[in-house]
Amino acid sequence: MSKSHFSEPHFHDEEASRAWFEKARWPEGRVCPSCGSLKSYETKKAGRYRCAEKECRRDFTVMTGTVMERSHAKLTQWAVAFFMAASSKKGFSAHQLHRALGCQYNTAWFLHHRVMEAMRRGGLDLPLGGSGAVIEADETYLGWVDVPRPRQKSALRYFKGGKAGPANKRAIVSLVERGGNVRSFHVYRADTETVTRIVNENIDRESTLYTDESNLYKRGGATLKGHETVKHSIKEYARGPVHTNTIEGFFSIFKRGMKGVYQHCGEKHLHRYLAEFDFRYNTRDLTDAERSVLAAKGGEGKRLTYHLPRQA
Ligand SMILES: [Zn+2]
Repeated sequence: MSKSHFSEPHFHDEEASRAWFEKARWPEGRVCPSCGSLKSYETKKAGRYRCAEKECRRDFTVMTGTVMERSHAKLTQWAVAFFMAASSKKGFSAHQLHRALGCQYNTAWFLHHRVMEAMRRGGLDLPLGGSGAVIEADETYLGWVDVPRPRQKSALRYFKGGKAGPANKRAIVSLVERGGNVRSFHVYRADTETVTRIVNENIDRESTLYTDESNLYKRGGATLKGHETVKHSIKEYARGPVHTNTIEGFFSIFKRGMKGVYQHCGEKHLHRYLAEFDFRYNTRDLTDAERSVLAAKGGEGKRLTYHLPRQA
């Protein structure tokens, strides 16, 4: 990351940074995070506002009710964290942020995890796809699970490319709409039940699904308009438009990015790393600056209540 990226004032001036975050969060003007009122006024303390509604009257700042709430980090540090997450193509680590900010590793880790949380999708997603749309689905494995999974009965085992999937690696299932968005899930186990639920909850029935020959997608695929497979076990990788190259391309970016950090990534945090990669993929047509604004805006309503900082 070159220095010139950080020449803008909001990366080194607190006032400018606050203005930047306020504009990202409230492009149409301040909104009280407690009651939603559009009427508020400035208090004597810069950056602190008071709701003008009689029943509310609560004070707030641009950090109230966001992933930044109750943090002692400077807004300029947050701005750098958001920008690094938004602009790095293969993801970035708390170590990189720690070096860029010259702050403590724990602070960088905390900032990074909250920025990733800001990038996470809300819970009210519309299904992917629709009439005429193609969805590719696949699963992948990365690193070892923290707690070994109980053995499965052989009847429940699944097969990938003719081989049983690794039982004690962290399993990820992703769906991508061609020309559209990706959605990734860290699952306890990539079995038929789990995959079918993901397909049912996240894909519009009018879509066509493309997968490899894995049995995992048969049940879910049967509920959609179409389901075509390529047989990787006999080295068939594409049959006309039927292939899973889009989702495999996404997995390869994710894995390359995770190489440097995954040994530091506790399993309970993997979903957040996935959210970060999903976010960047889904905003690939935006500039780095636009993506930073969108990420900062996404921090709203996602205040984390647990105390994280813990080395590695
Ligand atoms: Zn209010």
